[in-house]
Amino acid sequence: ATLSALSLTGCGLFGATGGDDAERGPRSYDITVGLLLPDRDTARFEKFDYPLIKERIASLTDKQGKVVYANAEGSSTRQSEQFGKLIADGVDVVLVNAVDAKAVAPDVEKAKKAGIPVIAYDRLAEGPIDAYVSHDNELVGQVQGRALVNALGENAENSKVVMMNGEPADPNTALFKKGALGELEGKVDIAKSYDTEKWLPEVAAENMRKALKEIGAGNVAAVYSANDGMAGAVIEALGDAGVTDLPPVTGQDADLAAVQRIVAGTQYMTVYKSFLLEATGAADMAVAKVQDRSIQFDALARDRIDSPTRKDVPAMLVPVVALTRENIEDTVIEDGVYTAKDICTQA
Ligand code: BGC
Repeated sequence: ATLSALSLTGCGLFGATGGDDAERGPRSYDITVGLLLPDRDTARFEKFDYPLIKERIASLTDKQGKVVYANAEGSSTRQSEQFGKLIADGVDVVLVNAVDAKAVAPDVEKAKKAGIPVIAYDRLAEGPIDAYVSHDNELVGQVQGRALVNALGENAENSKVVMMNGEPADPNTALFKKGALGELEGKVDIAKSYDTEKWLPEVAAENMRKALKEIGAGNVAAVYSANDGMAGAVIEALGDAGVTDLPPVTGQDADLAAVQRIVAGTQYMTVYKSFLLEATGAADMAVAKVQDRSIQFDALARDRIDSPTRKDVPAMLVPVVALTRENIEDTVIEDGVYTAKDICTQA
């Protein structure tokens, strides 16, 4: 038999449309990705996540793919309306960063019924999601907590720490808190701990003013702030209370303003979570899903997590790193997130 006849016979093993042929078959590039982000108070979403996802979708689809984007501005009701519109418009896949992990579940269900895959982006969403792209968020909290303990050094014992946690409906909030508490409990005195409605910096500022009044401005040894937006507000409140020798304050997101504060010495650290890897990872997964390329999809979604409503969700968890004065150069500058000039130019 000739070589081609042999390979044709072999093809029968895979059935008419199965296996390799499906992976290599002609691809439709005409993909519409629905992207739902939760708020505008956190700089990263519109500065990095949205543009990076959009760029990646364009480059993966020979510029034919598009992203339909909506921001919920902190309202789960608005996000639900936005989700409903994406389903009605028949997008091919939805990437959702939920305002409220539970409230979004019925919409995830509706999308599934309509045959639209849903990927939870950065925050877990309840309901039948197809995948999750984020970080090990408990580790994020550990990295923050460990940094504070290090910063306090020998003075850690009995020193009063104020905790500023995020919005409770965001499932990441509990994970950050759990990770941080694991490092702090038993080593410091957690004098006050607050939740922060919708992650709003002004709410964090208000809580910080309360804490300063109750504990005494001179007695706050460190502040655990779950993210950079709140850290900025906390540092301002400390300044307003006349604290000149600022205690170490944590953050998260490597916001430009936070990196500038770290250079200036007013914020101790932030957690740098690569936006590029998270955003491109999610875009790659979305396209693989729509194009039905399961081998590539599985290669991207190597991790597994359990959600309250679904076990063994395929996941991609992007590494995180503590960013302090010492490694600005090797992290955000090396990755091209900011130039030295961006950081050293006053906004
Ligand atoms: C994200 C953080 C962000 C926060 C507030 C969290 O779910 O992981 O990066 O700072 O939400 O938007």
